[in-house]
Amino acid sequence: MISRLRASFSSIVSTEHGHNRLTTTFYATLFAEHPEFRALFPAALDQQAHRLFQALQYVIDNLEDEDRVLGFLGQLGRDHRKYGVEARHYFASGHALLVAVQSSFTQAIWTPSLTAAWTELLDLLLHTMADAADNDDLPAAWGATVVDHERRLDDLAIVRLETDSPIPYGAGQYLSVQIPQRPRMWRYLSAAIPANPYGQLEFHVRRVSGGWVSPAIVNETQVGDRWLLSSPLGGLEVDRDSGQDVLMIGSGTGIAPLRAQVMEMAMRSNNPRVHMFVGGKYPCDLYDIETLWHLSLSNPWLTVVPVSEEDEDPWWHTIPAPEAPPGLHQRLQGQLGRVVARFGSWADRQIQISGSPAMIKTTVYALQGGGTPPELIRHDPLI
Ligand SMILES: Cc1cc2nc3c(=O)[nH]c(=O)nc-3n(C[C@H](O)[C@H](O)[C@H](O)COP(=O)(O)OP(=O)(O)OC[C@H]3O[C@@H](n4cnc5c(N)ncnc54)[C@H](O)[C@@H]3O)c2cc1C
Repeated sequence: MISRLRASFSSIVSTEHGHNRLTTTFYATLFAEHPEFRALFPAALDQQAHRLFQALQYVIDNLEDEDRVLGFLGQLGRDHRKYGVEARHYFASGHALLVAVQSSFTQAIWTPSLTAAWTELLDLLLHTMADAADNDDLPAAWGATVVDHERRLDDLAIVRLETDSPIPYGAGQYLSVQIPQRPRMWRYLSAAIPANPYGQLEFHVRRVSGGWVSPAIVNETQVGDRWLLSSPLGGLEVDRDSGQDVLMIGSGTGIAPLRAQVMEMAMRSNNPRVHMFVGGKYPCDLYDIETLWHLSLSNPWLTVVPVSEEDEDPWWHTIPAPEAPPGLHQRLQGQLGRVVARFGSWADRQIQISGSPAMIKTTVYALQGGGTPPELIRHDPLI
């Protein structure tokens, strides 16, 4: 069944406009059958459609790992409560999803056994999300107040908030965030510090040119703004029982969930060794390297290796890059994944990669090319 589902899904992915056909048919069928559902979704559906497709891709990619798939779907179900989505909405969506998948194939390929396999998968998917939505005691969303907005680079801000009550997230997780400047446009951001009893939270946000939300966070956010945050998601964590040391690879603001984890580890007495490669295009993109160096100086289990593709900052960035403290790794030059792979196969490590979808894909590719077994590699869904 897994191979049938996977083959049929990759045929959708590889068909021209297959991705669009599936999501457009889903929303068209859903809103035709249940017009009242339209109000639950944002006006522009492109982000939503992209996430739906990526979530299906994640499930299909991980079908052998039931715990991972069920955990992911449960988190999505809890997260979707922020839209007002309840269990009944999932059950009512099953038919539209099946129609959408079916419409992506020609009649000849859509066999009864494929119908059965997809019906079973979609059933599992929707029931898991519905159960999680119905059986969670935590609030659907938390309010938080911006207490600091630091423009660390022209296109990157560090935003610190205090939540109305502490959010029980794990170091390495991300949260869905809504800002007052862009109502109903939720975006995922990774927490850059571990959860604490004071509800303090920190996000590192890079402005995506042409984006809706990130430019507003970087350019317009003010101290006192009220944000909404929803249930924590993601499963990046150090497996302390595996006995394996850790390799972390982060690029740009992708360092945030890795930083939160090493900060959390720094509060423990016993830790596995952690090699953390921190990358960016220019030296100035390593915007938080000094915090990581400080952590490394006081925690001998942590080795930080800075990497940049270019050796020099662009001419418009006039602040000189900080020098590595004596005894710590000097910055290496090269494409992050390739630099990491040059050190060997890392086959004895548990590996986490965090960054943009393109960075994650190229790093996975480089590591596998260097002999790293793919089952050792973890990253957040590329949604
Ligand atoms: C698990 C997870 C954790 C994340 N954590 C963080 C974080 O800690 N900090 C952070 O800054 N961002 C983070 N992101 C990305 C963030 O959720 C938004 O996608 C990003 O800020 C862009 O939102 P936007 O509204 O500005 O752009 P949108 O309006 O959503 O998109 C505009 C266009 O930009 C493209 N685009 C979106 N993101 C990128 C990108 N990264 N690079 C290039 N093009 C892009 C889109 O495909 C689209 O074409 C995370 C994403 C995920 C999935």
